[in-house]
Amino acid sequence: MVRMTVLASGSRGNSTIVSSATTRILVDAGLSCRELIKRMRAAGEQPVALDAILITHEHQDHVQGMAVTARKLGIPVYLTEPTHRAWVRWMTPQKRITYAEWIEQRKASLQRSPDSVQENKQGSGNSEQELERCDPIAAGPARCSADITAEPDAEEKAAVEEAIAETAASPERDPTSLPSVEYFRSGNGFRIGDIAVTPFTIPHDAADPVGFVFEADGVRIAIATDLGYMPSNVSVQLRRCDVLMLESNHDVDMLRDGPYPWSVKQRVMSRVGHLSNDAAAEFLAKGYDGGAAYVVLAHLSENNNLPELARISAERALRDRMSLLANHLMLAEQDRALEAIVL
Ligand SMILES: [Zn+2]
Ligand SMILES: [Zn+2]
Repeated sequence: MVRMTVLASGSRGNSTIVSSATTRILVDAGLSCRELIKRMRAAGEQPVALDAILITHEHQDHVQGMAVTARKLGIPVYLTEPTHRAWVRWMTPQKRITYAEWIEQRKASLQRSPDSVQENKQGSGNSEQELERCDPIAAGPARCSADITAEPDAEEKAAVEEAIAETAASPERDPTSLPSVEYFRSGNGFRIGDIAVTPFTIPHDAADPVGFVFEADGVRIAIATDLGYMPSNVSVQLRRCDVLMLESNHDVDMLRDGPYPWSVKQRVMSRVGHLSNDAAAEFLAKGYDGGAAYVVLAHLSENNNLPELARISAERALRDRMSLLANHLMLAEQDRALEAIVL
């Protein structure tokens, strides 16, 4: 039996569990550890049964609960070396700063996030170094380009607070320490337990972003979100899938007419941004083989999309292919886990 449970999907956090009879993998940890555990329990998944965390790329909506979750559960993190380096850079200020500079940074983050700063004050250690090291917001988090807001969202604050509280409890620990790190390379398959994993490169504005194909017990699951367009190398990977999780990020007109500055609109629409409803539909109509039992639309923008627009666009593309056996269409949600897909 192979199972996929989408715990969250969208620019405020992404996380999915792929499991076989003996192995359970958390794909991205984009929610705080506390929220991940809450959603796993609500979805009938056992947090302590997780074997590994697998990361697509270092943007905050994919990693913000990674370190705390890995440390709490004592499980390895699989990612590419450039992704790991980029995350460590994000967690660690490039240069040693003076106390005065640190105060300036705190003021800046106070304007962004009054709650988390208050939490920081209580929780942070004594030395300057500790203070600067446990302040990911001041270090400048790398965000996915969709749904950019000036304010950190609730999940971002929760994750930062959690990390700071954990650091305060054991200030000697390096916030970037992980129980174990396993590097993989895009294009080189590997195994975690009885699940075969094939990472493939996706076009996105991160250090070394990947999508994944999972195979176990003859079942094939593909996850492809955070991609600016559908290149042929990705399209090839999405063939013969039983479950296809595909980005349907934005409606082009809503994005174009929406409130974002032009530079952000350009970034989202670029070849390294996010897949629009139209681009997802074009792939489903022309590039996809029609064989998946389930198609899950994912990473929907809350500002530049509506679930119904994404659904209608995909349904239209799949119109002639929907059957009793194939292409059950589901929409991944930001604020709650989807019911598990069992194959
Ligand atoms: Zn991203
Ligand atoms: Zn993302």
